Amino acid sequence: MSLLQSFDPASGALVWEGEIADAAAVDAALARAHAAFPAWAALSVSARVEAVQRYKAVLETRKDAMAETISRETGKPLWETRTEIASMIGKVGISIAAQAERAGEKRQDMPFGQAVLRHRPHGVMAVLGPFNFPGHLPNGHIVPALLAGNTVVFKPSEMTPATGQAMADAWAEAGAEAGLPEGVFQIVHGARATGEALVAGHIDGLLFTGSAGAGAHFRRIFANRPDVILALELGGNNPLVVWDGDVEEAASVVVQSSFITTGQRCSCARRLIVPDNGFGTALVDAVAALADRVTIGEWHETPEPWFGPLISAQAAEAAKARFADLETQGATVIRAFTGVEGRSGAFVTPGILDVTGLDVPDEEIFAPIVQVTRVPDFDAAIAAANATRFGLSAGLVSGDDALWDRFVLESRAGVVNRNRPTTGAAGSMPFGGLGDSGNHRPSAYYAADYCAYPVASFEAADVAGNSGALAGKLR
Ligand code: NAD
Repeated sequence: MSLLQSFDPASGALVWEGEIADAAAVDAALARAHAAFPAWAALSVSARVEAVQRYKAVLETRKDAMAETISRETGKPLWETRTEIASMIGKVGISIAAQAERAGEKRQDMPFGQAVLRHRPHGVMAVLGPFNFPGHLPNGHIVPALLAGNTVVFKPSEMTPATGQAMADAWAEAGAEAGLPEGVFQIVHGARATGEALVAGHIDGLLFTGSAGAGAHFRRIFANRPDVILALELGGNNPLVVWDGDVEEAASVVVQSSFITTGQRCSCARRLIVPDNGFGTALVDAVAALADRVTIGEWHETPEPWFGPLISAQAAEAAKARFADLETQGATVIRAFTGVEGRSGAFVTPGILDVTGLDVPDEEIFAPIVQVTRVPDFDAAIAAANATRFGLSAGLVSGDDALWDRFVLESRAGVVNRNRPTTGAAGSMPFGGLGDSGNHRPSAYYAADYCAYPVASFEAADVAGNSGALAGKLR
C-alpha cells in the first residue's frame, strides 16, 4: 500500500495521510459509479435536489472545521477559507437555479401535440481538482453533475487530499440521511498516476480545473473520443490596464488583482499595462509602495495576514527561477521576489518587474508576480492586453465610459471587469476563458450546460395525422 501525505506549507507539519488508489482501485470505483448511474439518473430532479440540500446542511454544520482544514493544507488565511466554504454552501442554491433555468424541461404546443426539450445526464463524470481552491472548485463541478443525474468519481489535488476527504465525508453524512445510493459519489486519492488511471478508465465526462498544460494534454488524448464530454477550466496570463483615476484606489485594484491568495488564483492579473506618462509612473510607484505593506503570515496568526505561503517550497523555487529568467532577459526589478526571513521556504514577497519592450514568455506564473508594460496609447494598451494565447480574465481601471465600451468589446477574455479586481466573479454568472484558458465550456452558472445533454422531441399522443402529408404525392 502506498501512502499519500499532505503538509502545512507554513510549518511543514503533516496534515493528512491516506492510501493512494492504484489503477485497479480506480477501475473498481468507476464500475461502482456505472452500476449506480441508471437508478440515480432515473430519480426525479426534486429527489436529487433533496440530496444536495442535505449536503449543504452538512457543510453548514462543518464549515468552521472545513475552513481550518483548507487553511492548514494550503496556508490560506482563515478569512479566505471561510469565504471558500461560504461559496461552497452558496453553490448549492445557485446550481439548483441554474439546473432549472438552463437544463430543465420546456414544452411548446404544436399542431400535432408538443415539442419537448429535456436534458439527460452523461453518465460517470471524473472530476479532477486543483490545489488553490481545493473545496470550491471541484464542488462547482460535483454539485451540478450530481444534480443533473450523473455519478461522480473525484480525485482531489495531491497537495490537498484532506480537503477532498472532508468533502467526501460531508457527502457520506448527507448520503446516509438522504439515502444517497452507494457509488453515486466516490473519492480516489493520489497524484498524477491516479489521475491518469481515472482519465484512461471508462468515463463519460472529464470535468477538470487545473493548469493549461494538463488541459492541452486532455484535449489531445480525448480528440478521438466524442463520447466523452470535456470541461476544461484552465489558467491565464491575465492583463489589467490602468489608464486613469485616483492613484491610490487604482493601486489597490492592482495589488488585490495580482497578489491575493499569494497570486494563486487563475484570474490574478499577471500583466499590468499602463500609459507611458506621469500617471503610469505614479501608479507603478503606488503599487510598489502598497505591495510593501501587505501582511504575510501563517493562517492562525493574530492579526490575521492578508496572504500566506505558496502551496510549497518547490512552488516558490520554481517561481523564483521564472523571475530570475525575466531578469536575465532584461526586465527591470521594481520589487524583488524573495523569501521571507524566519519563515518556511514556501513564503514569498510580491514581485514587480518592468518588461516594457521585451519579448517575454506568454506563460502563467502562479505566484504573486506582476509584469509591467508601458504603452504609448489606448490602442497599444488593448493590443498588449490581447497579446496572449490565454483569455481568462482582463480588467480596465478608467473613469472614461468610451474607453470601457471599447475595452469590453475588444478584450478577448471570459471575465472582463471595470474598476474592480480581475479576480472579481460571481457564482450567479458563468466563469471560463478563451484560447488556452479552456475549451468553451465555462463553469460556475453555466456548469449545468456541460453536466447534461439536450434531447429535443416531437411528441404526438397517437400516430394519426401522418399519412396526410403524403396525400396527392403517391403513385
Ligand atoms: P494541475 O494541472 O497541476 O493539477 C490539477 C489536477 O489534475 C490535480 O488533481 C492533478 O493531480 C491532476 N493532473 C494533472 N496532470 C494530470 C494528467 N496528466 N493526468 C491526470 N491528472 C492530472 O493544477 P494545479 O497546480 O493543482 O492548479 C493550479 C492551476 O489551475 C493554475 O494553472 C490555475 O490557473 C488553474 N486554475 C484554473 C481555474 C479556472 O477556473 N479556470 C481555477 C483555479 C485554478
